[in-house]
Amino acid sequence: MLAYTEKIQETARKLLKDKTVDVFIGYKKGTVPMMNEPVLIRDPDKADMLYWDSFCGLNLCNYLTKREDRIGIVATGCNSRNMVTHIIENQIKREQLYIVGIPCTGMIDHRAVDREVGHREIVEVKEDGDSFTVTGRDFEETLEKKDFLQLNCRICRHHKPQ
Ligand code: SF4
Repeated sequence: MLAYTEKIQETARKLLKDKTVDVFIGYKKGTVPMMNEPVLIRDPDKADMLYWDSFCGLNLCNYLTKREDRIGIVATGCNSRNMVTHIIENQIKREQLYIVGIPCTGMIDHRAVDREVGHREIVEVKEDGDSFTVTGRDFEETLEKKDFLQLNCRICRHHKPQ
């Protein structure tokens, strides 16, 4: 996941620097663990804000509607399908988009994790391959990602962006 973060940062920096796009839309680490947030970046020097892990579930396509600028955007399989719908419905033009596809392995359901730790406060989450570790003030648990995937990700058959 860290490798994807670096790759996304590198790509966004380059696209903004050489003015291929006016803005890059991706995720930044949330102020609250397990809640990464959408971020719009225009300054290449701010590309290191971009972040990627299995808590990037919010739909970035909501930021595409009726824009006129050229946009770089991170896409999973489902986001890319949503982009196609936006294009078909004339919400955005295909030529405005530079799509950075991520081979998605599914998003973690933060509510399920919260239940697992008995609603104790989680202060940090670290993902490592197929597992992730949640840390609180007086506990630490390592969990298998496959046991905590969002329902739509469990049944998803098209992880790769189209
Ligand atoms: S696993 Fe499928 S449904 Fe889940 S975020 Fe990835 S592409 Fe979307």
